[in-house]
Amino acid sequence: MKTSSCVKEALLYEQAGKKVRCKTCDRFCEIAIGKLGFCKTRMNIDGKLYTLEYGDISSISANPIEKKLFFHFFPGSKALTVGSYGCNFSCPWCQNWEISKSVPTRARNNYISPERFVQLVKENGCHGTSISFNEPTLLLEYSLDVFALAKKEGYYNTYVTNGHMSSDTLSLLVS
Ligand code: SF4
Repeated sequence: MKTSSCVKEALLYEQAGKKVRCKTCDRFCEIAIGKLGFCKTRMNIDGKLYTLEYGDISSISANPIEKKLFFHFFPGSKALTVGSYGCNFSCPWCQNWEISKSVPTRARNNYISPERFVQLVKENGCHGTSISFNEPTLLLEYSLDVFALAKKEGYYNTYVTNGHMSSDTLSLLVS
C-alpha cells in the first residue's frame, strides 16, 4: 500500500490512545489501525495516518475562472482544475457524486506529480491552478506541493471548498 505514489503520510494528525486523530478537516476523525476516516481517503496504517489519494487525479479541465465562485479574480483567465475522490460531506444531491462518493483505489490510480501538473498548466495556456470537483481539503498534501511550485512559476492558486477544514489546514494553505 505505502509503495504507491498516491499514498503519503498525512501532514496533520496526532496519536489518540490506540488510534490516530486526523486534524485535516473539522470532523477530526479518530481512526483505528487498518481503518479509514469518514471521507475514506485517509487510513491508519500501522499507527500512522496516510492520505490514499496524493496526486490521484479523477478529473482535469482548463476552466474559465468565471466558472468558479470568485468575484473579479483574474477575469478572463483560465485555471487548470483537478480533483480526486471523496468528500467530508455526504449531501444526497451532490452534482459530482460519481467522484465525491467514490473512494480512491489502487486499481484506478491516475497519478500526476506536482511537477507534471505545473507543466500542464503551461501547456494548456492557463494562468493558475484550482483544486476542485471533490472536496480539495482532502488533497491538502498534494495542494501544498502543487501551489509552491506554481507560485514559483508566477501562477495563482485557488481552492473551491466547502470550507470545513481545520484551522491548521487553513494556516498551511494561506502561509
Ligand atoms: S479529512 Fe477525512 S479522515 Fe480527516 S478528519 Fe476529515 S473526514 Fe476525517
